[in-house]
Amino acid sequence: MSLNCDQIAGAIAARSDAAQKWLTDMIAFPSTQGQEAEAMAYLKDLCLSLGLPMEYREIPDSIMEDPEYCHSDDETSYVGRPNLVGVLKGSGGGRSVILQSHMDVVPAGEWAEAFTPRVEGGYVYGRGSTDCKGCVVTVLLAMMALRDLGVTLAGDVELQFVIEEEVGGNGALALIRQGCSADGVIVVEATGHQVYPANRGALWFRLRTTGVSAHMGRRHEAVNAIEKMMEASRCLLEYERELIASSRNYPLFERYENPVQLNIGMIRGGAWPSMVADECVMEGGVGFLPNRDLAQVKRELVAAIESSPDQWLREHYELSYPRLHKDAYETDPQHPLVTTVHRAALACGRESEVYGWNVSCDAALYAKLAGLPTLVYGPSDIGGAHSADEKIQWSQALEAAQTLAKGVAEWCGTH
Ligand SMILES: [Zn+2]
Repeated sequence: MSLNCDQIAGAIAARSDAAQKWLTDMIAFPSTQGQEAEAMAYLKDLCLSLGLPMEYREIPDSIMEDPEYCHSDDETSYVGRPNLVGVLKGSGGGRSVILQSHMDVVPAGEWAEAFTPRVEGGYVYGRGSTDCKGCVVTVLLAMMALRDLGVTLAGDVELQFVIEEEVGGNGALALIRQGCSADGVIVVEATGHQVYPANRGALWFRLRTTGVSAHMGRRHEAVNAIEKMMEASRCLLEYERELIASSRNYPLFERYENPVQLNIGMIRGGAWPSMVADECVMEGGVGFLPNRDLAQVKRELVAAIESSPDQWLREHYELSYPRLHKDAYETDPQHPLVTTVHRAALACGRESEVYGWNVSCDAALYAKLAGLPTLVYGPSDIGGAHSADEKIQWSQALEAAQTLAKGVAEWCGTH
């Protein structure tokens, strides 16, 4: 049975008003890191009321010892902060899929109205509207549309709604460590209907240089850690040039003139204007393509600093990576999961291309750690995420739900 896009659109439209309310309800929960429980409880109740058999999946605190774990300033126990998972069993014989999205959001920042949702001019405004509660609603709409149309899927659909995507993917990491498998994974994020079978990776680093303190009057007998950091910065920006040069025109990322980058994000050092600084700490990030992995980028950062002619620097620095680290990944763009979802988007009238995303999300964990064919697809545009006035065009949420319903039906097979 090949599902007609108009039928799917009709089934989704019939639930549009209710689904918009799901989204505004979800936005009102400020589900920043550590505060996800109420939003998850709402989502669980909502799913159960829709007949979707979702259960909490607790995250053990031992996940913090995992080498892939991303530490953060606000990290806290996982007791009472579960992921939400459920399997919609197929009738058998079809391909299975995981549909994944996240319920955590970044903080409000300066935006006073972040958690006061409003609907205006066809948009839903609020923190998480696009990233990623609107995507969660898109998944629910797609599943309900299939059910409303009486479609019986052959393959299983596993829904996974996780926490801590924004701090590096610890929720998804826990699910993967608990064991998850499927014939394909669709991570639903705001891609504006683009199908991304590859993502760039991101590695945050912390670099510490040390010197020898003294009163400024004896500066020439001391060693200034800030000046050592300036030399280290020069080396790192030199590395950025090589990183860009070796990444241009990499397949699926050809459209980006500067597909990768090294950003110096924070720096602090010294204690007093007339004192020679004995310590300086810089934190920054490296974006990289699937032509490298995390281990290689770490080696290259070390090599960049070791390339300095400054012997003191080479002997007095520490590089560490305690915070966000997400690998890059690529799935063959000809993989049937990719072509199926892309065909579904086009069939439903979307403008959609297949290429690499210069953003990282949970997808790489499924691709690299679980070894599953993975892509990212969803409504809206990531541009407004993490900013004030984050919003989602409601029609796009409905349209992405059409693609997912059609794509999942074709991937899993129907009876
Ligand atoms: Zn997201």
